[in-house]
Amino acid sequence: MEEYDVAIVGGGSAGLSALKKLSDLNKSAILIEAGDRIGTKNVSGGILYSKRDPHGRIYNVEDVFGPDFVSNAPIERLIKKYLLHATSKNKIFTMDLTPLHEYKTNFGFSVLLNKLNPWLAERASESAEKQGGGIITGVHVSDIQWMGDKTILRTNELEEFQVNSIIAADGVNSEVAEITASRDKFKPDEVYFGVKVIIKLPENIIEERFHLNSSEGSAHLFAGDITLNHIGGGFLYTNLQTLSLGAVYHYDSLLSNPVTPAQLIDELIKNPLISEYIKDEVPLRRDNNDLSKEDQLKMQLSVSKLIKTYDELRYKYFSKNNVELVESGKFRIIEDIKLKIDNIKKDLIEKYGVQFVNNYVELEYSAKLIPDGKRCMMKRPYYKN
Ligand SMILES: Cc1cc2nc3c(=O)[nH]c(=O)nc-3n(C[C@H](O)[C@H](O)[C@H](O)COP(=O)(O)OP(=O)(O)OC[C@H]3O[C@@H](n4cnc5c(N)ncnc54)[C@H](O)[C@@H]3O)c2cc1C
Repeated sequence: MEEYDVAIVGGGSAGLSALKKLSDLNKSAILIEAGDRIGTKNVSGGILYSKRDPHGRIYNVEDVFGPDFVSNAPIERLIKKYLLHATSKNKIFTMDLTPLHEYKTNFGFSVLLNKLNPWLAERASESAEKQGGGIITGVHVSDIQWMGDKTILRTNELEEFQVNSIIAADGVNSEVAEITASRDKFKPDEVYFGVKVIIKLPENIIEERFHLNSSEGSAHLFAGDITLNHIGGGFLYTNLQTLSLGAVYHYDSLLSNPVTPAQLIDELIKNPLISEYIKDEVPLRRDNNDLSKEDQLKMQLSVSKLIKTYDELRYKYFSKNNVELVESGKFRIIEDIKLKIDNIKKDLIEKYGVQFVNNYVELEYSAKLIPDGKRCMMKRPYYKN
């Protein structure tokens, strides 16, 4: 049976931070994550804050992962503007909350956890291995038992582990909390419900549309009729080449007046300000039923290939790195890239009947419960053994 000082159940931001910190304190710690890859099961809006506390009680991400966090981690944009938009049909009243956002704040960066968490895992794993610990993915912790003074952790996939302590970092629906009866299940009035989509948009278009300098970002909160009378609100954060659009509501408020997560997102997207923020020129294919099945397939393949090239080239052209295409010798000058994009577009329209319409491109969709720290704080630490 493998033995460790600590087992950490769950490889989200909380578990990875615990692994790094414990390993740096010379503890042997094993982190067990149910997902096949780190980052695939984790959702945040999200802005990652580093806060100032005069009493030094806050562990910020750079305290745990090192002062080079900001320069090395795959974070998106430094949030410089923080606006609240109150919406009523076509009317929007905007308040600048930037000073509030900056109060006692070292920084706030927009982040995507499926990019950031694998980076945290790499760092945490390096430290853990020095102490004989590490990270195991694709393994589900299913039981915890106490045998005399021994604490045994069971999984669905591997042999048992013997540990001195367990950290439950397995998220809002913590199975560890349930197995150990260390905390009551959250009630609807103790949690929020969050839903989020990631929308693709080229880097330079984001900066132009949101009036941002390079690598800087803005955060937009939405209140008013977009909430469909629920307690909570919407958010839109700028990432490097995407936007995070979503909403967070009191769960009890959603239960008393049920709507689907998709309806909540649709309500946001319908808002005139949000639809202007997220819009892009999107190719729309046309079926050609006059052709034989075989010719239809051939045509679909050609259109797919052309759209892929168009998309890749366009994203590169509208990015800071567009000079790479010239430096690599693929194009003579930047203007030639634009010419190529225009020619592909012309072919798509004229040869294949593709239309270019105002729409948005959704990459990912996720929904999750979030504990409300103020409404569900644990009364005391839990001890056993
Ligand atoms: C829409 C939305 C917007 C948000 N916006 C923000 C924001 O802007 N800023 C912010 O700071 N926070 C935000 N949050 C909250 C924040 O994202 C979460 O609080 C945070 O990600 C929680 O991290 P965690 O590591 O505690 O849990 P999780 O990220 O949920 O990780 C738990 C992990 O445990 C694993 N696991 C579960 N059960 C087991 C088991 N039995 N065995 C092994 N592994 C298991 C899961 O696979 C998962 O990877 C937002 C959340 C949502 C949903």
